[in-house]
Amino acid sequence: MSQLSAGKEISSYCNKCKLTLAHTIVVMKNDRVPGKVTCNTCKSSHAYKDPESAAASAKAAAKKRDKKRDSRPQIPLAEFWQQSVNKARGPGRAYSPKTVFVVGDLLEHSVFGTGVVDKIFDKTKMEVIFQDHIRTLMHSL
Ligand SMILES: [Zn+2]
Repeated sequence: MSQLSAGKEISSYCNKCKLTLAHTIVVMKNDRVPGKVTCNTCKSSHAYKDPESAAASAKAAAKKRDKKRDSRPQIPLAEFWQQSVNKARGPGRAYSPKTVFVVGDLLEHSVFGTGVVDKIFDKTKMEVIFQDHIRTLMHSL
């Protein structure tokens, strides 16, 4: 990499544009790190922001959001099952792999007991919440 100095171009994250863009170095902080840069796009001057670390923190924030959205309520399965049963559409139909179910359906399994359809994976697989376990069952075969 060529020596950085004031007046040279560098990629920096721009807070105004919310993008990593070409910036012109105004002042160097030290031999290798720019102190202040001017965005070539919006012409605003700001502290140099390493695009890699800016991207990494944006990614981490996105990951955090995903985690929050995906997490199931942190309650015991039996309680979650009870809540799901209360919300489910009843009366429960006898489970058979040939029957077509949709999310929220209540079903009666001959071995596992009462269950609620939580997810449909594809045309023939669904995730069902039972009191003691979440199981993957076949349906609409
Ligand atoms: Zn900008």
